Amino acid sequence: QLSNKLALVTGSTSGIGKGIAETLLKEGAEVIVNGRTEERVNNLVEELSSLGKVHGIVADLSKADESEKLVDEVKNLGNLDILINNMGMFEVKAFEEVTDEEWMTYFQTNVVSAVRLSRQFLPEMLARDTGRVLNIASEAGVKPLAQMIPYSVTKSSLISLSRGLAEMTKGTNVTVNSVLPGPTWTDGVAAFMKGAAAEEGKDLEKFTEDYFKDNEPTSLIQRFATVEEVASTVTFLASPLSSAINGSAQRVEGGIIRS
Ligand code: NAD
Repeated sequence: QLSNKLALVTGSTSGIGKGIAETLLKEGAEVIVNGRTEERVNNLVEELSSLGKVHGIVADLSKADESEKLVDEVKNLGNLDILINNMGMFEVKAFEEVTDEEWMTYFQTNVVSAVRLSRQFLPEMLARDTGRVLNIASEAGVKPLAQMIPYSVTKSSLISLSRGLAEMTKGTNVTVNSVLPGPTWTDGVAAFMKGAAAEEGKDLEKFTEDYFKDNEPTSLIQRFATVEEVASTVTFLASPLSSAINGSAQRVEGGIIRS
């Protein structure tokens, strides 16, 4: 499906981003992975190279100069067909304790990074009349969490950004969508859950069952989604098969939100 397509996945040295990079490679795309340290990027390139053509670019995309550097390197590799703004930060913290500075860091990391890359690559996609932009938001972007308000607000902004950018694509073959994962079983989430289960002296299976009953009663799947389940949705939306889906916010949250 994706042969001859060049794709960039930001923040792809772990979790969902890594899963997306793998799935895109399996579908035949040439993939650019990104992370903040040379070691992690080089290791990932080595790990994924058996799946297809993969490049690595080291850049902290919350910073304008590093974003510019990445854009130049991508342009040297060719025309970008698929832009996946995946990177993101989150923290559990009481609203009244989040400083102005922290709010700015959230916006730089979760929103402005995607704004900058869209500003660089979307006009080119429109000029070539082909392309896909996907922003990885979150279920929290439509169902804000009290202990993660800056995260929820920035994810809501990403959904709005995607809808706005999609308006720019009217009448073209370019699409812009957001994907809203719910709780997803990444290494980071696994470490957190294992620690919390151990603290309560419960085994992980029982702890996870109770976690969903108590915290996600509306979830229809009553479990974490796998990275592969999120990555396959993203890959479908990055493919020509999704050509009539534009400006949408695709939920992969197991039915937590029903409206
Ligand atoms: P993760 O921590 O494994 O992935 C986030 C990635 O972003 C990391 O690789 C990190 O290094 C990278 N990153 C952070 N700041 C960066 C920066 N300034 N420059 C470059 N890279 C940077 O977690 P994940 O769960 O895989 O998250 C991926 C995306 O999915 C995020 O946007 C997250 O908000 C979203 N999401 C995750 C879940 C979940 O349950 N795991 C749920 C909803 C949404």
